[in-house]
Amino acid sequence: MKSLATYPRIAGINYESMNDGNGMRAVIYVSGCPHHCPQCHNPESHDPAYGEELTPDLLTTIRKEIADRPFLQGLTLSGGEPFFQPQATFNLLNLLNLSALRSKDEPPLNLWIYTGYTWEELMGVLSSNHPEREAVFQLLNHTDCLVEGRFEIAKRDITLAHRGSSNQRIIAAKISLNGSQSCAEALTDLPPVDLSMDYDAVKNGGK
Ligand code: SF4
Repeated sequence: MKSLATYPRIAGINYESMNDGNGMRAVIYVSGCPHHCPQCHNPESHDPAYGEELTPDLLTTIRKEIADRPFLQGLTLSGGEPFFQPQATFNLLNLLNLSALRSKDEPPLNLWIYTGYTWEELMGVLSSNHPEREAVFQLLNHTDCLVEGRFEIAKRDITLAHRGSSNQRIIAAKISLNGSQSCAEALTDLPPVDLSMDYDAVKNGGK
């Protein structure tokens, strides 16, 4: 994990995807990934310098495109690796201000994140003095569903919902962090993660 920029560069955007989480979703693919999984589908996104800079115009466009699609269930952050530059990714999430894109009468947009890191690796960062520790916590604490783990070609399974290989897991991250407001609180009372939790358990956005 690095702290390279204020915001990640944007490797791609899909405003109507059925393949990146539950339901119809907007997907932002951020640039930068250190994992180099064999047969990765997005190798161009590994370079953090790839893609577009997040300019005010691009931000305005993204927010308008999402606001104009009331049928979207949520936003997915994928990559690349959203946790490669966690503070930058969290800055992006803050700028998007998802809650302001729906009225009080509409269901809120939920957040899915795809990461190549495992849950245990991310918890290891939270338990460390890593400079990006708080950013990792904040990202996880806003994430309804985390799809975690590297893509392993030997475990590829096209029958799995929302995952490419069977080692990857879907975790209700926000719930697993116990809704804590700070990293210190979460680590004091971190409930055990139910690793058997499957798609059905979180298909409504972890709620
Ligand atoms: S984590 Fe995702 S983007 Fe990164 S190498 Fe693996 S499959 Fe590709």
